[in-house]
Formats: sequence, C-alpha cells, structure tokens
Amino acid sequence: RGHVRFEDVRFAYDAERPILKGIDIDVPAGSTLAIVGPSGAGKSTIARLLYRFYDLNGGRITIDGQDIAGVQQASLRAAIGIVPQDTVLFNDTIGYNIGYGRAGATDEDIRAAARGAAIDRFIESLPKGYAAEVGERGLKLSGGEKQRVAIARTLLKDPPILILDEATSALDSRTEAEILDTLDAVAARRTTITIAHRLSTIADADQIVVLDAGAVAERGTHAELMARA
Ligand code: ADP
Ligand code: ADP
Repeated sequence: RGHVRFEDVRFAYDAERPILKGIDIDVPAGSTLAIVGPSGAGKSTIARLLYRFYDLNGGRITIDGQDIAGVQQASLRAAIGIVPQDTVLFNDTIGYNIGYGRAGATDEDIRAAARGAAIDRFIESLPKGYAAEVGERGLKLSGGEKQRVAIARTLLKDPPILILDEATSALDSRTEAEILDTLDAVAARRTTITIAHRLSTIADADQIVVLDAGAVAERGTHAELMARA
C-alpha cells in the first residue's frame, strides 16, 4: 500500500505562470523519495497536489493505481500524514495537541504515539482524558519539541504515506540530527516523500529528484548524483 505516481503533472496557481511543467515521478510503496532544489522550484506545490489542495491542469497523480481526483477527500487525507516546517500548536496540553481531530484515539493510543515521537515525558503524569488540564502546554515547547508533537500526530494517524515538508529545516543542526533519527523510525515501511534543501539530510533516500523551475533537472541516488557532480 502507498505506491505514489506523478504522471506528466502540470500545474499553475494562475494561468499566466506554469509552476510544474510535466513532472514524472514514481515512488514504489514503502520507498523514500527526496525532493531537493532551489526555493521556488515547486517542491511544496508537489506535496499540496498530492494532498489535493488544488486540482491539476494536466496529467495525473495515482496512489496504488487509483487517480486521486476520484478519491474521497477524507480517505485521501487519512492515507497521508504531513509534518510541516513550522508546527503551530494550541495553547493546550501536549496530549490534546496530539489527539485533537483524531476521533476514537484513546489515551493509551496517544501515549503510544507520544513514545514513538519521544515526546512522552511531558504527558507521563496524564491521569485521565487527554484534554485534562495537566502536562506542559504547546506554547511552551521548543521548536524541536513542537516537531515531535507533529510526529506524534502523524503516528496516531498511522498513514501509509508520509510527507516531510522541510520538517527539520528550522532547527539547529543538533536538534535536527535528533529529530531525523526519530523520523527514520517513523518513516520505516511507509512511503516517504521528503522535501529538503540540504542534500546531506537525505543521503539515504532510495531516490532523489532535483527540481528546478518546475521541471525535474536530475534524478538518482545520492551516490549517483555525487558521481555526476
Ligand atoms: P518550493 O517549495 O520549491 O520553494 P513552492 O512550491 O512553494 O516552491 O512554490 C513554487 C512557486 O509557486 C513559487 O514561485 C511560489 O511563489 C509560487 N506559489 C506558491 N504558492 C502559491 C500560491 N498559493 N499562489 C500563487 N503562487 C504560489
Ligand atoms: P490533520 O491534522 O488535519 O488530520 P495532518 O496531520 O495530515 O492533517 O496535517 C497536519 C497539519 O498540517 C494540518 O493542520 C494541515 O492543515 C497542515 N498542513 C497540511 N499540509 C501542509 C503543508 N503543505 N504545509 C504546511 N502545513 C500543512
């Protein structure tokens, strides 16, 4: 589950200015794709199109052979988890921030997700009900801790497809390394699309696509791209 394909994907926010000019990318189920390239190349737009924030102007995107244009929004979004660059939290408990909108999640589910994201120390004392007025509040967390809350939210959703959209770009390098370790475990066995601007953070990806001005400029493994450079 989770085979993602972009076939000749074309997209423009406004008709005058094409943003993606015919993108072909094949991400086998459970594999890792990294998208790198200069700011404005269209990397985040690719993520938004997979989540169907916008309709395509041409081509198609499929998940397991099914055109996402024909998939119900709710089931599409259930299949995809996103960890963005800047996670905005409610001024409420960590447990609440992990569990909001996740209908049916029990306190034990939330605790397990928090452990998976290594943010559990803040909710260890949670007595009952994740919305209880206990534990640290979202607004008090550091940047790295906020990203761990976003990771826990994703673990709770347990999607086959994971999008990491500059998830560690705003962090200092030591925190980034720690979060990347956690993300490695979270990404295992999921189809993972990582958007990054530093090649060094995605050296292990099964496939790297270099996007430039809305077109694929290069693709290959890290070693292949280095050999060509
Ligand atoms: P990247 O993630 O590679 O930095 P983006 O996908 O965010 O690039 O943006 C690609 C281009 O699309 C940029 O020129 C950007 O200014 C433009 N763009 C992004 N979002 C919008 C939007 N909502 N409306 C109009 N133009 C946009
Ligand atoms: P939700 O929390 O709505 O169930 P996700 O966990 O998949 O959905 O997404 C986490 C949050 O990130 C949501 O609030 C969503 O609106 C937001 N989000 C989705 N896509 C992006 C994106 N490309 N950039 C930044 N934030 C995003």
